[in-house]
Amino acid sequence: MIFFFGTRASKIKEHQLRNTSCPYCSTANSFTVSTYSRYFHFFWIPIIPLFKSSIAECGHCKKSYATANFSPEMNRSFEQEKQRDPAKRPIWQGLGCMVLLAFFALVFSISLYGTFFGPKNTTKSTLSKDPRRASLEEDIRKISPVFSKEKEPLTSALKECINYEIVSGLDPAKIQYFTRMEENRFLILLKVRDMKKVEVSSRKVLIDIIEDCLYAMEDLKDVDDYYIGIEGRWNTVLVKTPLEADLGGRFADKYKLLPFYGEEPTDTSKEMDSVPAKVSSDSLRLSN
Ligand SMILES: [Zn+2]
Repeated sequence: MIFFFGTRASKIKEHQLRNTSCPYCSTANSFTVSTYSRYFHFFWIPIIPLFKSSIAECGHCKKSYATANFSPEMNRSFEQEKQRDPAKRPIWQGLGCMVLLAFFALVFSISLYGTFFGPKNTTKSTLSKDPRRASLEEDIRKISPVFSKEKEPLTSALKECINYEIVSGLDPAKIQYFTRMEENRFLILLKVRDMKKVEVSSRKVLIDIIEDCLYAMEDLKDVDDYYIGIEGRWNTVLVKTPLEADLGGRFADKYKLLPFYGEEPTDTSKEMDSVPAKVSSDSLRLSN
């Protein structure tokens, strides 16, 4: 049976032992010690050097001795020889390892180069430039345990309703709020710091409670679309928008809330390069 990976050994050094005699045939200075280095290979490509082993052979009677069976004088002589001329593992036994390292270093430096010097017009940089993301992060930061009843009547009314309906086990005082109206769209962000007290499977009840409250509020009857995001202690756990929902209760994609802030911006720099001015004004008129 052929194994495509495993260990192999190669001879890396020969030492002649001085001041010894063979315990078997008593011939003096007849020993040659061969040292082998074992390495791990994959498809016969050496990857990592492993351990070394040595074996002594008497040139006269051909009897061989593993290091464990060396006589004290053989041991002494071998140690001296090793100090004088050490058996080093050949560098090629780590060839595979070095090739892999070089490969990863190359990939890493290319990606670094791409990050710092690459073209700025890639999809990734467009995404991170999406100003709606910044607006959402900003609003999430504004989620607050305190707000003024006069300035934010909607938030207050919502909080009152939610406090009344709240899931058992949750402390209403630990729920923080932020709301925002944009034309006929209403954004509701909650942060529930002790979310872990609610079973994952029943967390989506929070969304139902919020929706019940929203539908019951007189001041919101002109609102068409609700965008609800609920933050746990560390991350967004529930999201519901008119188009999408993440109601698993553990991890939700907060960027599903982005349509609240408007359409995804198109890459304006690219448009200016390739689309003649006349066409863009035409398309503007069409869309209006
Ligand atoms: Zn011998």
